Amino acid sequence: MALLVQKYGGSSLGTLERIKHVAGKILTAKQQGHQVVVVVSAMQGETDRLIQLCNNLTTDPNPREYDILVATGEQVSMSLLAIALNAKECPARSYTGPQIGVQTDSVHTQARILNVKTETILNDLAEGYVVIIAGFQGVNERGDTTTLGRGGSDTTAVAIAAALNAEECQIYTDVEGVFTTDPRVVPHASLLPQISFEEMLEMASLGAKVLQMRSVELACKHNLPIRVLSTFSNHPGTLVTFEDKIMQRRLVSGIAFSREEAIIAINGVPNRAGIEGQILGLVSDANIEIDMIAQNATDKDSNDFTFTLHRKDFPKTLKIVQQFAEELGASVKSNTKVAKLSLVGIGMRSHSGVASKMFQALGGEGINIQMITTSEIKISVVIDEESLERGVHAVHTAFELDKIPSEKKHSLMEA
Ligand code: ADP
Ligand code: ASP
Ligand code: MG
Repeated sequence: MALLVQKYGGSSLGTLERIKHVAGKILTAKQQGHQVVVVVSAMQGETDRLIQLCNNLTTDPNPREYDILVATGEQVSMSLLAIALNAKECPARSYTGPQIGVQTDSVHTQARILNVKTETILNDLAEGYVVIIAGFQGVNERGDTTTLGRGGSDTTAVAIAAALNAEECQIYTDVEGVFTTDPRVVPHASLLPQISFEEMLEMASLGAKVLQMRSVELACKHNLPIRVLSTFSNHPGTLVTFEDKIMQRRLVSGIAFSREEAIIAINGVPNRAGIEGQILGLVSDANIEIDMIAQNATDKDSNDFTFTLHRKDFPKTLKIVQQFAEELGASVKSNTKVAKLSLVGIGMRSHSGVASKMFQALGGEGINIQMITTSEIKISVVIDEESLERGVHAVHTAFELDKIPSEKKHSLMEA
């Protein structure tokens, strides 16, 4: 008998038929003698719908009220799943995050989990119940509901699995695991049987939304493997684990991408000490995070200073930058139709030639690289958004990522 912590995502719970299907899977695990704790997302599209309702009223909602609103999606799916299980004669109880005791800090809309109470969960399990918990939400010191950022149910599941000392955290989703890139963009992408925490962390932070970045961070910290697998097949999926447990050594593991980028360039910035700090200081004072930065000298008196950021922050940032550039006598150029493409792999640490091969693949497609950053295990480039899918395909083929052996070829669920 094992203690299973399973998380089901929005598409796995998107209709009543799917909720019944998930209830059937849980019942089977229960009949095999396992104890089951389930974390749920809201039904597919529900969180977006709630956010849209709010946006129709204001673009600047009170964060406390926003969190109370968007946390309701998970409350619907958790109770429907419990009702579906009860209808199959399987005892189940559902709880909101605050009810069960998912304690967080007070950073509304992006809260971090501080502690998870296990008493109610353990008591219910001992009495033979399946325990269903709303993901994505917790409670702060004041007793206010908080939410954990988009995709946050993954992090709830990991925090609960860690608190219960489960052997692994199972994330059930609409694809069969973690692929070399988003299988919706490259249908012949390979399913990775295993991936290291470090690579998964990069993939998630660079746009692969299959796992929330914080869930990977938390799992790594607690020494807890994550298994990503499909709700709709019996494939063992992908194990996210420590590097020394990876059986298959690869040069690169995957390509992540993000369409949500924007680029701002200030041309003719006077060449004097401290000016870069001044520009970025103004931006960070407005709580805006920037991503890549590049600076090159145009002549001995001035520089071009360029940076990228999330597209949602673009209008606010442009205003700040334009005002400052005017004071400096510099000019500003910007583009919101850019995307970031990143190649990730721990093999890059010990092999050279990865960057040149990647750039040649993009160049071969006539794709112009506007900016580059690298770290020990990743290379990111900014390119035109319209070239993104072509770029992903070209780099995927150049590194033969469609040829990674796996036990079975994947199938995409009909969404
Ligand atoms: P859930 O609702 O189950 O949380 P998400 O939509 O958050 O599901 O995450 C699953 C989706 O992540 C997949 O449908 C797929 O399109 C996308 N995805 C992006 N990159 C990858 C990748 N490298 N491997 C697998 N899925 C990926
Ligand atoms: N329902 C939330 C979202 O759509 C949380 C999640 O799905 O993990 O972001
Ligand atoms: Mg998700």
